[in-house]
Amino acid sequence: MAAAAAAAAHVLVFPFPLQGHINCMLPFATALAAAGVLVTFLHSDHNLRRLGPASTPDGPHSQRLRFLSVPDGLPDNDPRSVGGLLELVESLQAVASVAFRALLASLLSTKSPSRADHHDAADSGSGFPPVSCVVADGYLPWAIDVADELAVPVLAFHTSSACSILAFLSAPRLFELGDLPFPAGGDLDEPVHGVPGMESFLRRRDLPSSFRRAGEHGVNPRLRVLVKDTSRSSGKARALIFNTADSLERSALAHIAPHMRDVFAVGPLHAMFPAAAIAKSLWREDDGCVAWLDGQADRSVVYVSLGSLAVMSHEQFTEFLSGLVAAGYPFLWVLRPDMVGASQDAVFQEVARATGDGDQARVVAWAPQRDVLRHRAVGCFLTHAGWNSILEAVLEGVPMVCWPFFADQQINSRFVGAVWRNGLDMKDVCERAVVEKTVREAMESDETRQSAEALAEQVKRDIADGGSSAMEFKRLVSFIRELSS
Ligand code: UDP
Repeated sequence: MAAAAAAAAHVLVFPFPLQGHINCMLPFATALAAAGVLVTFLHSDHNLRRLGPASTPDGPHSQRLRFLSVPDGLPDNDPRSVGGLLELVESLQAVASVAFRALLASLLSTKSPSRADHHDAADSGSGFPPVSCVVADGYLPWAIDVADELAVPVLAFHTSSACSILAFLSAPRLFELGDLPFPAGGDLDEPVHGVPGMESFLRRRDLPSSFRRAGEHGVNPRLRVLVKDTSRSSGKARALIFNTADSLERSALAHIAPHMRDVFAVGPLHAMFPAAAIAKSLWREDDGCVAWLDGQADRSVVYVSLGSLAVMSHEQFTEFLSGLVAAGYPFLWVLRPDMVGASQDAVFQEVARATGDGDQARVVAWAPQRDVLRHRAVGCFLTHAGWNSILEAVLEGVPMVCWPFFADQQINSRFVGAVWRNGLDMKDVCERAVVEKTVREAMESDETRQSAEALAEQVKRDIADGGSSAMEFKRLVSFIRELSS
């Protein structure tokens, strides 16, 4: 019995401790557990506290999934939003890496970690054999290094799009070709030639935001380090896992594969393996907005959400608000408490005033986004083009208007506007007239809706039994079992 347990695959899944990464890697962990693999899912202490008791795994596979946590090194009242992202990255590297090394070392022995050392929400650790494989977020290169040093097979999980990772991996070539750095004040509409497969449509403004900063201000040494670290650790990993589908990113995946030991495209995971029974939202979802949607006509509502990290200036907020009101459709807007400089009450009141205190708008601090996008009343999605949001909208066939903010969002939104054509890219412009015009177009264009619906069908085929993502997930489970034996 003990020998059989010791031979079982036990995977430590470690996402970057932010909402978007959890939303993607939690369904992955659930899926592994459903496939019979034992899984330890590693949160930050802060996030596990925020998720509360409902984060305890429940449901048929709960015996095979447990949660542990490590400190992220920041005070509890730190907002961990985009303004402080660099602090979070640095603090994780300084503090979480040490705790992670100690935890992994202890999980490699048969002895389970003690409660005193690590917060164990499920407390089901006693039956777990030693960890046989680590799946670490690609944005935690040090976690990949630690696993490698402790001689545990490690896979890198990229929660962003494959096209953005290909752009990252192409950085040395971009510098070589002179695509980077951009000349100061140079034209952002100039084409970029150094990312394979994207030569016909990629412009400077579509590159990930850190490239843009490097372009505008000369070669940013931090970018060089980040690019080097991501590429180095991805190369070290036994495989890269992407939350994407063949029909979305076939070309990018094909260009990445020759440079890696193996590549798996297993998404969109949220639709394949919903982790509904486990709390995943760091904010409390406002369920009232679904009841509000119930009272609206089919495809009449604009859903507006800029994800879990983006913040906007008061001026940008005002431009959005004026454009949305002028477009004339009812809208549901997620405005997190830390999102606009002014107090949340003041912001909510401004929306009420602008809409004449009528029923045109509903504002919430956090929505059950997947339920909202699935709702018959939603006609389009004004989004920051975060990868989870894109995948969620793609699956529901909802046309998008993209206002990308940072990281991979710039390149994702180019794919929406120019490759998949399931939405419009409002990149770099935040003016009321443009908001009004693009929202109208997304709501009314038959062509955009047809593209969105056709893409949804294709991706649904990828995740159905026998589809590319479903087959890749099976191959991945076998791969993990082999690494674990
Ligand atoms: N989300 C949500 N409710 C909201 C806003 C966002 O549940 O009101 C979820 C959304 O469904 C997605 C995630 O938060 O899964 C945001 O991830 P994404 O990659 O789109 O953007 P990020 O927050 O990482 O910038």
